[in-house]
Amino acid sequence: MTPETRVAEFDAADPLAHYRDRFTLPGGVIYLDGNSLGALPKATGPALQQVIAQQWGEGLIRSWNSAGWFEAAGRIGGKIAPLVGADRDEVIACDSTSVNLFKLIAGALAMRPGRRVILSEPGNFPTDLYMIAGLEAQGLATRRLAERHRLTEALDGDVALLMLTHVHYKTGAMHDMAALTRAAHDAGALVLWDLSHSTGALPVDLNGVGADFAVGCGYKYLCGGPGAPAFAFVARRNHDTFQQPLTGWFGHASPFAFSDDYEGAPGIERLQCGTPPVLGLAALEIGVDLIAEIGVHRLYAKSQALSEFFLESLMAHGVELELVSPPQAGKRGSQLSFRTPDAYAICQALIARGVIGDFRAPDVLRLGFAPAYLSFADMAGAARHLAEVLTSGEWQRAEFQERAAVT
Ligand SMILES: *Cc1c(COP(=O)(O)O)cnc(C)c1O
Repeated sequence: MTPETRVAEFDAADPLAHYRDRFTLPGGVIYLDGNSLGALPKATGPALQQVIAQQWGEGLIRSWNSAGWFEAAGRIGGKIAPLVGADRDEVIACDSTSVNLFKLIAGALAMRPGRRVILSEPGNFPTDLYMIAGLEAQGLATRRLAERHRLTEALDGDVALLMLTHVHYKTGAMHDMAALTRAAHDAGALVLWDLSHSTGALPVDLNGVGADFAVGCGYKYLCGGPGAPAFAFVARRNHDTFQQPLTGWFGHASPFAFSDDYEGAPGIERLQCGTPPVLGLAALEIGVDLIAEIGVHRLYAKSQALSEFFLESLMAHGVELELVSPPQAGKRGSQLSFRTPDAYAICQALIARGVIGDFRAPDVLRLGFAPAYLSFADMAGAARHLAEVLTSGEWQRAEFQERAAVT
């Protein structure tokens, strides 16, 4: 039996199949970019309407109390916590991933006086590396990059913080969180994990591995909407010593005392800076609730089944593309990346057919498999389109060859 003939059987046996109906997906589209911007839950629009009309329109400023606006950041953080193996009071939803990285890197440096090296790997997500630059410019940090197989030996007595992205944004390769966390701790360093490509797609066990800090993204697998607030995790054992460098009034122990002097709130609330984006948090909460309802273990199982089925389908079509993601499903996140010099044009040709993946310079075609709303039929369809694009040579047409100024 070819993979295509098994599609109906696979979708019928998929315990998560009905969740697709909880999302708005445009007709004629196979969406393989949920790792960049998650799809829209159907509940988000009505929920935001309600927040806008009732809480804002009617409640006005009273809604800070009556509608729980004050608690939203901590409440939603508490809902994200079980998805990443943290306790509820160790996670908060706030700011962007970039800003949270800054707060945690700076705070970690202060916890390791005499050490100033931030160790990461070349090719980490750009903002993760850039956020070190500002601290370097202030003379507070020194960046050190080591290839992933050399990270352990680069952990010496100068390293204050090991900062890595758990699932690589471009290749999908997954780090061994437990082993690297242990190695960093053995060298006296703290550890910060960026979970942007993990949270909501696969289980993570921050406390199980003893991580110190983590950040993650709200608009990818958590389906919080474009520019959704991110989240930050600080292990409880660090709550007393961790100083947040962006000492805004929402992280104050009593913001409404209007004191002249800063005193950080106890615990994770200290991570807040300014007034939280209530509308953004409201949308994020819908996505988080839905992903939590489905459950990260089930999502991961389906994600692996989807990507394996996609690879099988490609093979059945005789497609030979260089896979840059780890071939073993257990060693990668919820994506498959292929290297080809024509990645850009192939990606454009796929998009013209309604198969939305993305291109990562200079030569990677990246296909994300958000398990909450994709079907095996999507996999079969995407594989067929990719095979047709390659055999027809349509990607060689000028319209697909043109390089966009911004990719
Ligand atoms: C998506 C992503 C980010 C995003 O950072 P923003 O501040 O939301 O722009 C950061 N790090 C990684 C690894 C990502 O994948």
